[in-house]
Amino acid sequence: MDALLNGKNALVTGGARGIGRAITLGLARAGATVVACYRTPGEAVDTLATELKEIGGEHHLIRADVADPVEVDQLVHECRERVGTLHTVVNNAGVISHVSFAELPLEEWHRVLDTNLTGAFLVTQKCLPLLGPGASIVHIGSRGARAGVPLRSHYTAAKAGLVGLTRSLAKELGPRGIRVNVVAPGVIDTDVERRMPAEQRAQIEARYRQLTALGRLGTPDEVAGAVVFLASDLSAYLTGETLDVDGGI
Ligand code: NDP
Repeated sequence: MDALLNGKNALVTGGARGIGRAITLGLARAGATVVACYRTPGEAVDTLATELKEIGGEHHLIRADVADPVEVDQLVHECRERVGTLHTVVNNAGVISHVSFAELPLEEWHRVLDTNLTGAFLVTQKCLPLLGPGASIVHIGSRGARAGVPLRSHYTAAKAGLVGLTRSLAKELGPRGIRVNVVAPGVIDTDVERRMPAEQRAQIEARYRQLTALGRLGTPDEVAGAVVFLASDLSAYLTGETLDVDGGI
């Protein structure tokens, strides 16, 4: 996979933690120059900077809230200043909560929609001037959007929205040589899962041993692998698709 993305520039939102961090590192290892956007400064950002330095190349860490149009303007301005053009945009930043539909406050609906869906809209639209023929946009959706998940109506609505956005954008941007796809992870073993109480975690693991063909949770690196593929010319004739990275549910 090395050198697959040599000479390419990529933006990853929510790129310092969890799946986004694996995507940032995966793209960098494949040779891309990566701009990783994070929201909260701290240890994750500092250790990511160190890991990127070890990989080599010139990478950039920029703070921005993707739900804030002014901050997205600033983020895209920084991308233009630092790398000029972008070949890949990965809309990974996301938030989730578990609330029954009957009790879902409007503010929480907006928070989840604003980050997962409107954030992708803002980042993609504002990045368009930096994208040329051969560029690839990847939205991180969720396998749960197709399956449906109790207590997550707001989250699955946002993630399903990314599929519609992707289908239409693929057709609108295809004539410009820009591809747009969704990667839809199943349950991935991130810090969120690791911080769960042991009993709850054991329940989830048991459930996904049953539910998946591969009998286990996925890893952030396995999601990153699909993103590297979609960012590269190996997927040059693939657009408008949703790639389930779910271990075979
Ligand atoms: P994490 O909570 O570990 O990471 C989410 C990232 O998004 C963080 O880096 C966070 O930054 C960032 N982020 C959140 N809100 C904003 C914002 N407004 N502006 C900028 N950055 C923001 O989640 P995961 O790594 O698990 O999830 C990554 C993506 O994958 C999400 O879109 C999620 O919905 C999706 N997904 C995850 C699955 C899983 O099993 N983990 C399954 C299916 C889909 P900060 O730390 O600063 O808040």
